Amino acid sequence: MKISENIIQILNEIPKNVKLVAVSKTKPNENILEAYNAGQRIFGENKVQDLVKKFEELPNDIQWHFIGHLQTNKVKFIACFVGLIHAVDSLNLLEKINSEAKKNNRIIDILFQIYIAEEESKFGLDYIELIEILNSEVYCNLKNVNVVGLMGMATYTDNIHQIRKEFASLKETFQKVKQTYFLDNDNFKEISMGMSGDYKIAIEEGSTMIRVGSNIFGERNY
Ligand SMILES: *Cc1c(COP(=O)(O)O)cnc(C)c1O
Repeated sequence: MKISENIIQILNEIPKNVKLVAVSKTKPNENILEAYNAGQRIFGENKVQDLVKKFEELPNDIQWHFIGHLQTNKVKFIACFVGLIHAVDSLNLLEKINSEAKKNNRIIDILFQIYIAEEESKFGLDYIELIEILNSEVYCNLKNVNVVGLMGMATYTDNIHQIRKEFASLKETFQKVKQTYFLDNDNFKEISMGMSGDYKIAIEEGSTMIRVGSNIFGERNY
């Protein structure tokens, strides 16, 4: 199927309140333009160098999301344009994003990445670590970051019960944190969860933002 048809099909089957991030990592500009011409405006990349290049070459009304593990020394390359950073997993990184945002006279939207999978290799915070950040004085003084919610990645498995359980745990963490820290803050509303293989389950478990790559652009060759 064509990229534009894939986009339209996914948009037709997801609820209106769920945002689609088209994950275009490793894919060429012409593929992205095809999705763009079908109306897609949010794209996700996980390599800073690729993101910067695509930002420079592609239409400027694209909202670029950084979805991968971000190194502190690379924040400066994306701070002037990035729309949302999905995977903040340390106070140190958050401070760096804040200072680079300030230099650019911006407030940058971020999500905290929560560790929900059983795999050892995945990045993210556990609940205690998240609470420590939110309670810290350093965090309270950051004026140039806007925490819009949480992000997580389920275990790569075909056990759908496990995937569902992991997404449910992210939703639960979201609700607890919302109650305690963001009750009167309407910005804190996003749960970024769900990829090509599991976005339908993610939506059933409360996702507001799905990150879909291969179901739109086809398999990636690295
Ligand atoms: C690659 C990637 C995706 C998209 O994966 P697909 O399975 O191709 O949909 C989503 N989220 C993150 C963080 C990724 O790195």
